[in-house]
Parts: sequence; C-alpha cells; structure tokens
Amino acid sequence: MLKPNKVQHECSNPAGSNCSFAVLNYHRVMPIHTFWNEQVLDVGVFEQQLQQLKRFFRVLSMEQALQLAAAGKVPTNAVVITIDDGFADCYDHIFPLLQRYQLPATFFISTQGLQQGYLWENQIANAILQAPVEITMLKLQDRNFASNGKTERHQSIVAITDLIKYHPMAQRNQLIADLIAQTGVPQMHHEFVTAEQLKQMAAAGMTIGAHTVHHPILALESAETARQEIAQSKAILEQILEQPVHYFAYPNGKFAIDFSDEHVAQVRDSGFAAAFCTDWGQARPTQDCRFRLRRFTPWDRNPWFFSLRLALHIVAERYSIRFLKEWVGTHGN
Ligand SMILES: [Zn+2]
Repeated sequence: MLKPNKVQHECSNPAGSNCSFAVLNYHRVMPIHTFWNEQVLDVGVFEQQLQQLKRFFRVLSMEQALQLAAAGKVPTNAVVITIDDGFADCYDHIFPLLQRYQLPATFFISTQGLQQGYLWENQIANAILQAPVEITMLKLQDRNFASNGKTERHQSIVAITDLIKYHPMAQRNQLIADLIAQTGVPQMHHEFVTAEQLKQMAAAGMTIGAHTVHHPILALESAETARQEIAQSKAILEQILEQPVHYFAYPNGKFAIDFSDEHVAQVRDSGFAAAFCTDWGQARPTQDCRFRLRRFTPWDRNPWFFSLRLALHIVAERYSIRFLKEWVGTHGN
C-alpha cells in the first residue's frame, strides 16, 4: 500500500520487484521473400513469438503496465509490446496478428511518413533497387558501394542507410540527393501506415505514441530543431487521433549517443507521460527517469529460445544477477 507521504510515481515496494516490466522493441515484420535487411522479422516468426508471449507471459497495454507499476503490482512475467517507426507492415502484418491473439501494443510513429507515405530510408532503398543495371558501383563520401547484383544492392542499402543515418537532417538530405544523382529519381510507393489506418488501430485498442517528425538523430540537431521534432510529432498525431498522445520513443534511441538529458527535458516539457530509449533493460518507471525507460528485444528466431531469453532477462534484471544479464545480452548473436 502507498504511504500517504509518498509521491505518486514512487514504488510502494522498496525492492521495486513489482514495479518493473519488459518492453519489447520491434521494427519491421514482413514476409520472408521481401527481405532486404536482416533486422526485418519474418511474419511467421513474429506470429510464433506472439504465441509464446500469449502462453507464457502477461502482455499488458502501456497504460496498464504504468498503472500497475505505480501501484507496485506488476506481474513478474509482464511484457509490453512496442513497434517503432510506422511502416506499412504495422497495419498489413503486425496489427492483424495482434488482433488475432488479442494482444495490445504501442506503435511509435514518425509523422513525416503519414504525410508523404514513406521515410527517408525508403528513398535510399528504392533509389538503389531501381538503379539501371549498368550501374554497378555507387559512390558516397569517397566510399564505394557495389550495385552489380541483387545481393550486393541489398547489402549496399544497409551500408548506405547506416552511413547516412548519422548525419544531421540537412546533410542527410544532401547525401540522398547525391545518391539519386547517380541512380536516377526512384519511383516511390506508399510504404507507411495511413492516418485512417492509425485511427482504426487506435479504435481497436492499440496505443499510438510519437517518434519525431523526420526520424533524426536528435543529438545531431540544434536544440530548437529537436524540440520542434518532438512537439510537432505529438501535435500531428493528436490532431489525427483526436486524443492525447502520452508516449514517446527516441529515434535510434541510445542515451548519450542519439539523445541527451537536454532531449529528455524537452520530451518531459512537451507534455508526454513517459518515453522510451533502446538501451537494454527492464522499464522501471517508479525508480528510473520516466522519460528514459529501457527496452529489450530477444533476437532469437527460434520461438523457444525467444521465450527463454526473455524469461532469463526478466529474472536477471529482477534479481540483479550480473552474469545472467551478461549472458542474456551478449551470447547467441
Ligand atoms: Zn525508429
């Protein structure tokens, strides 16, 4: 029971063992034949993971998890599902499976995708894939990238995306223009959820959170640009959904690399209730800063290893078992 003099977000359990939960961080889920990036999860593998979560874990909505954490009543096996960015597979593949298994999830959306139908990284992928066959090599920032076959092009998409990602937005746009000057202007498809689909997902009980407008690395932008990216994405989503947006996820999401305490303060001041990074660990909203909650994604494709790693992660974090944390985090990749 909460003592009367305790602040609202302080956990009633001194050990904090019923105040933390695992937050899974997904990005893209697509049929295996459309793979161009090893970070993409196959639809069948994702479904098996949902089956495991349904069977062995207690999947909570973000609201439920935060409320239970504040009351010190989080079940030991609690898990919250989050999906970042908002690509079309959120609606095409992830949402139908969540509905089939009646599981809630939170989707963090970069709002430029809603407005133009794709994000900057889709431009890179389409430019490289659609380049004329006679273009066998691409050059960017004095580096060469092979484009003489399907595999080479897929590898170059990943390498060029990684290269361009760590630039401020203005330079990022310039580098994409440099790439397109070599490949020709790509034909763009709709590769993002639409506002209507997002409304439908929210109406079906999914939580929608913000993930900036353009998906920049906040640490590389000016304070004012970062503040606008955070606040505008919230405002755009609230206008579409006609309801408040309470949660935020930092693009890329590594503290001290991709964002800093300055951005944590901006997120808090923008009126969010909680925010998520990609640093691994349990979310401990009553003990840690609520605007820098940790997430974790077991990477195993085998459903049993997936469950085992998630269970061991929860045990390791709950009882602060250092060697187990290391084993969960560093082995098997
Ligand atoms: Zn993202």
